[in-house]
Amino acid sequence: MALPEHTRELRGQVRAFLTDAIGRGSITTNADNWLGGVDPALSRALGARGWLGMSYPVEYGGRGASALDRFVVTEELLAAGAPVAAHWIAERQMAPSILRWGTEEQKARFVPGVARGELYFAIGMSEPDSGSDLASVRTRAERVAGGWRVNGTKIWTSNAHVSHYLMALVRTEPLDPARRHAGLSQLIIDLAADGVTVRPIVSLDGAHHFNEVVLQDVFVPEADLLGTPGNGWTQCTSELALERSGPERVLSTLPLLSAWVAAIRAGERTADAHDRVVIGELVARLSVLRQMSLAVAAELAAGSSPGDVSRGDVTVEAALVKELGTRFEGELAEQVRRQLPYGPALAGSALSSVLATAVLHAPGFTLRGGTNEVLRGVVARGLGLR
Ligand SMILES: Cc1cc2nc3c(=O)[nH]c(=O)nc-3n(C[C@H](O)[C@H](O)[C@H](O)COP(=O)(O)OP(=O)(O)OC[C@H]3O[C@@H](n4cnc5c(N)ncnc54)[C@H](O)[C@@H]3O)c2cc1C
Repeated sequence: MALPEHTRELRGQVRAFLTDAIGRGSITTNADNWLGGVDPALSRALGARGWLGMSYPVEYGGRGASALDRFVVTEELLAAGAPVAAHWIAERQMAPSILRWGTEEQKARFVPGVARGELYFAIGMSEPDSGSDLASVRTRAERVAGGWRVNGTKIWTSNAHVSHYLMALVRTEPLDPARRHAGLSQLIIDLAADGVTVRPIVSLDGAHHFNEVVLQDVFVPEADLLGTPGNGWTQCTSELALERSGPERVLSTLPLLSAWVAAIRAGERTADAHDRVVIGELVARLSVLRQMSLAVAAELAAGSSPGDVSRGDVTVEAALVKELGTRFEGELAEQVRRQLPYGPALAGSALSSVLATAVLHAPGFTLRGGTNEVLRGVVARGLGLR
């Protein structure tokens, strides 16, 4: 499908802004920078230009634009490898979730800050013994005067150390083995609250991106419960469709391919026949995957609502984008690595640095946001096979 004509101008503006920022050295680009590159100054600059929360209603700081306008902006940010991790999760799924399930007071309190690129959220789903089987979460919230008291541990919490809030999935009623998805709720937890400890987990490349978040007798006011108590599973799964379908599930390693092609064009590297075949195949696959991600954005723009079958659910399509897209991202890193044998010509170059990031981050691509095995199960259910 083709994007509407008016998005051409928008794409040009974003690209010019990024080219200028890269040229001046005011941002540092890399592969997988939508999760690894935290740069609040860039997030605020994007917010000031109206390029965050574009599809949110105007009264909450958005522009009332379509999901396709947002798609164009996110695609340019990802293709450039811009460091957008500070605001990414808040803008992609938390503000939309608050707009869908939240109270008027919550919408007014949280959404404009997200659109300005100033308010950041982390995802509090996984726990030490609950990942794929998310319904088994054991973090508990008990009712107390004026709100909830929360105890438990979340893990693999991306960028919690630079976020203001955690959107936590918690158990508010005891587990009923016959109705495992019931009794869960979502709480918006202030990461600066008493009883919250954010501990770093250092990745194999030495970066601090993950955290363990320990919640010990944390008081959460009633006003910070999202949606309805007991409806957490439905709310969470509708959020996952937004998390899974975006171009970041296809483009995380595009900066590596671009850096390789740029080095060839600049005469810094030669390309033999096999190199050209590999590049051609990668670009062909990329074009197909991009169309799939774009098709989901078009469904969202047309009013489809993730997780709501009455409004054209896109849960299965989102799972397909992520399953195929994340495999592609990893294979891109592996194929480029094979074509670029290490040696003096590569050592210390910009290409070598982006290659190292892509290779070291690749193991996480098919895990984050739900593993590919689990996504295949979602697709099977959509086909009526489970
Ligand atoms: C880079 C990265 C960032 C992340 N960021 C966050 C974050 O910000 N917030 C957050 O909450 N979590 C985050 N996660 C955690 C992620 O969501 C989990 O790792 C993922 O859901 C898998 O859970 P697990 O690690 O417990 O593995 P498990 O669920 O224990 O799975 C282990 C293996 O068993 C397979 N398996 C499990 N169940 C099934 C099944 N039913 N059918 C077939 N195979 C199955 C899995 O596919 C996997 O291969 C992140 C993970 C990564 C890698």
